[in-house]
Amino acid sequence: MPPSPVPRPAGAPDPAPARPASATVVDTARGGGRTVSLTFDDGPNPADTLRLLGVLRRHRVAAVFCLWGEHVDDHPDVVRRIVADGHTLGNHGMRHDDMGRWPAERIAADLRATNDAIRRAVPGARIRYFRAPYGAWGGTPAVAAALGMRPLGWRLAVGDWEPPGTDELVRRLVDGVTPGAVVLLHDGGGDRHQTVEAVDRVVPVLRARRWRFTLPARDRPTRRTQTPR
Ligand SMILES: [Zn+2]
Repeated sequence: MPPSPVPRPAGAPDPAPARPASATVVDTARGGGRTVSLTFDDGPNPADTLRLLGVLRRHRVAAVFCLWGEHVDDHPDVVRRIVADGHTLGNHGMRHDDMGRWPAERIAADLRATNDAIRRAVPGARIRYFRAPYGAWGGTPAVAAALGMRPLGWRLAVGDWEPPGTDELVRRLVDGVTPGAVVLLHDGGGDRHQTVEAVDRVVPVLRARRWRFTLPARDRPTRRTQTPR
């Protein structure tokens, strides 16, 4: 189905206005069968994020990075590297607040501030997903969808925030993955070198077992109608 043009309000400040997305939380990777999506929260976090980018580049895996707005302001150069490497961006809130009980207006202000921070780092960046901090969805899915971001859940979390050791992370990933799973991992919010090492080890193991790495599903074609400037 071809994308259809959507009217936009005159003078909309968003430099890359997005069509509304589905408000249903997606936790499924694109494509059928043995597909898996790797998603990374709480960055950018220079040391670990840059090492992770090197790992993903070497293994030719495209991932989603759900960015913490304050960290974006601190490390815009790392966001530019994420985008330059062809990864997909998500909004993870400005200050990683629990928004579970917030009214829609407050949620919208936070999500817009986060997108503004991302677009100060990367003008015109497309921000395709939103992930609620702590998974406290509350009223966030509808707000995110209205701003053009699909709420992004997960089917597998491996507790890499503990962290339990690289061997244990590898075991949890290899044993826990199921067809179409979106996997929650972290490149920020602490020392994530175990996560980076686990990804480096797990990708070849899963590939050898015929798993494919894809992005999370969206409800419509990702190609968008360009608005003439
Ligand atoms: Zn988080």
